[in-house]
Amino acid sequence: MEIAAGLASVAKGFHARGWLLGTSGNLSAVVQREPLRLAMSPSGVDKGELKPEQLLSIDENARIVSAHQGKPSDESLLHIRIVKDRDAGAVLHTHSVWNTILSDLYATEGGVTINGYEMLKGLQGVRTHEHTEFLPIIENSQDMPALAEQVGKTLNEHQAAHGFLLRRHGLYSWGRTLAEAKRHIEILEFLLETMGRTNRRLD
Ligand SMILES: [Zn+2]
Repeated sequence: MEIAAGLASVAKGFHARGWLLGTSGNLSAVVQREPLRLAMSPSGVDKGELKPEQLLSIDENARIVSAHQGKPSDESLLHIRIVKDRDAGAVLHTHSVWNTILSDLYATEGGVTINGYEMLKGLQGVRTHEHTEFLPIIENSQDMPALAEQVGKTLNEHQAAHGFLLRRHGLYSWGRTLAEAKRHIEILEFLLETMGRTNRRLD
């Protein structure tokens, strides 16, 4: 229940910043590893109004194991893939204006390269602004099993990445804990907006 309350609180904060508008985005956190149990946001719910009791419990096949009606987020399979491949304790996914713009602007380069910013030090393991963070961009799809496979491939190719973008769709990041995942989203959203606002290509 503490995990559910934490997710609801993060959802409210992100919604207030305009990163989860119109029921978009989703959030999850690991409740138990063996067998895997994830607290997952339900599909189609206003994230500004999300209540702890609305968080679903799902298994590693994205099936609901709690006594809830309704449907887990369509993107649950991506969360499960990230939890397994990155040993993450929480996965957060936002649909901000700036992450959407940059996910398209840099698509031909395969990702966004971020370096030289002090805020990079908010990413786990980064100690200097001289760090280069590469956020891979994955082509969007509604075929979730195929997209989950692509996410797995991308995470494997970019072991150092703290997140990735789905083209014209949104940002994914994660952390060992919910607090770390939240910090990573805040850092990456800050950096993407900063790069977006200073981007000559947008003039
Ligand atoms: Zn999404």
